[in-house]
Amino acid sequence: MPAPHRITRLAPSPTGALHLGNARTFLVTFLLARTRRWRILLRVEDLDGPRVKAGAAAGAVEDLRWLGLDWDERVPDQSQRAEVYARAVRTLQAAGRAYPCICSRTDVERAASAPHPEDGIVLYGGACRGRWADEEEARRVAGRPPAVRMAVGDAAIAFDDRIAGPQRFDLAATCGDFVIRKADGVAAYQLAVVLDDHAAGVTDVVRGDDLLDSTPRQLLLQQALGLSPPPTYWHLPLVIGPDGRRLAKRHGDTRLAHYRARGVTPERLLGLLAFWSGQLDRRRPVSLVDLLAGFDIGRLPTQPVVFGREDEAYLNGG
Ligand code: GLU
Repeated sequence: MPAPHRITRLAPSPTGALHLGNARTFLVTFLLARTRRWRILLRVEDLDGPRVKAGAAAGAVEDLRWLGLDWDERVPDQSQRAEVYARAVRTLQAAGRAYPCICSRTDVERAASAPHPEDGIVLYGGACRGRWADEEEARRVAGRPPAVRMAVGDAAIAFDDRIAGPQRFDLAATCGDFVIRKADGVAAYQLAVVLDDHAAGVTDVVRGDDLLDSTPRQLLLQQALGLSPPPTYWHLPLVIGPDGRRLAKRHGDTRLAHYRARGVTPERLLGLLAFWSGQLDRRRPVSLVDLLAGFDIGRLPTQPVVFGREDEAYLNGG
């Protein structure tokens, strides 16, 4: 019997334009998938209402195409799947795995025993766990709609990341019960991504390692919803600025659109992304065809990549 098809996805968030860091993740996902004959899906993660920027999804598609990346199918944007997410929240509540929560962000922060060091995750102590008979009661007392949290219990969650290696997380100690539906009624990223990946048959999740500590939450949701088997995870070391922080606006304009407008060619940009991914021994323009021919995930650096002056100079034609 032929092996079942493996499937991955490119999942841009249209909260801003694609920058060098996102492009690097998408390039590695694409090369990994195409060299192994996986299917590639495109999914726009536009749940973060207030932060979604008009035109950013179309911009991301245009930028990816300009780089030469393609995909086999575009699956529905997250904003179109509210009903699926709502059903899962009801299922988890009915099973006693999730509960309404009226704590404000400030309440949570004030009560936190230890803020998560890296990611701004604040440990939730469980003030609303077991407190409400139902959502209606929570709403009445608070005078506003509650959020819904997933109870994490006390089990440790372990998984083997194909790049980062074996991982083990104690959710109760690091994040506590986490939000799966925000107070505005919109599903949280953690839940949406699990339901979307399952619905689309995603077998391999490739993304930046800023999401490594989201994975145990997603695995817990998969287990609780009976969505097996879990995907294989590949978390890539991020591109960071010289200050050690994740590449962002503070490091200057690293949007693809900005380099494009300045006349940087896709080959030149690919050369930088490929150098950062261990696929070239120096920065030089390269075609996607050549990258596909020589791609080896084993050469990916294990440490974060620092975007510095030499990279800028190279993009400027040096
Ligand atoms: N949309 C997320 C991002 O742009 C990726 C989420 C995921 O791959 O699970 O960072």
